[in-house]
Amino acid sequence: MKILIVEDEPKTGDYLKQGLAEAGFVVDLVRDGRDGLHHGTTGDYDLAILDVMLPGLDGWAILQGLRKAGRDTPVLFLSARDGVEDRVKGLELGADDYLVKPFAFSELLARVRTLLRRGNKASAPELLRVADLELDLLRRRVTRAGRRVDLTAKEFLLLELLMRHKGEVLPRSLIASQLWDMNFDSDTNVIEVAMRRLRVKVDEDFEPKLIRTVRGMGYVLEYPD
Ligand code: CA
Repeated sequence: MKILIVEDEPKTGDYLKQGLAEAGFVVDLVRDGRDGLHHGTTGDYDLAILDVMLPGLDGWAILQGLRKAGRDTPVLFLSARDGVEDRVKGLELGADDYLVKPFAFSELLARVRTLLRRGNKASAPELLRVADLELDLLRRRVTRAGRRVDLTAKEFLLLELLMRHKGEVLPRSLIASQLWDMNFDSDTNVIEVAMRRLRVKVDEDFEPKLIRTVRGMGYVLEYPD
């Protein structure tokens, strides 16, 4: 799950980015409204968190720009203002939720999870299964042949991506864009290393092997023929 944060206040932005990353999300943080609109219309985000008062473009303008570009990304507004008028304006423009600063991080996280669930209800099952490998999205648990597999947050996201696209060869560039933030250097071997660790945990002690490298193309998870 990938989240865009547009927040010019350094402390708040860094705090949000770190907290959401620790909760297992991939987070891009930009501090300027124009950058925010650019990322929101060109990137692939599951949720946008927008401050209202921003340099470049304000949060309202970003939201309008996103909707005009046909993006229905759920939007959560953050604002220091608590006027009823602002709240009404945000919701009229199509914001999905509105949080007044200062707020507790736990409150923000609860709202984020609710918005993501709402956005995904039709498309996302809660349990992904390939052969005897199961990934439980709600409980954040993975089992193979009924045995618990302990994964890091990043490994969990990687496996979730592979299982959602079972049978499809996923290029490294796609994996990078979904699982790492915009500062990720895709020339490094970080993806290979993460994939190797995941395969050790998911495949090493089990048959059949489900994850495969397709040379020069990427990775695929499937039940082998
Ligand atoms: Ca601001």
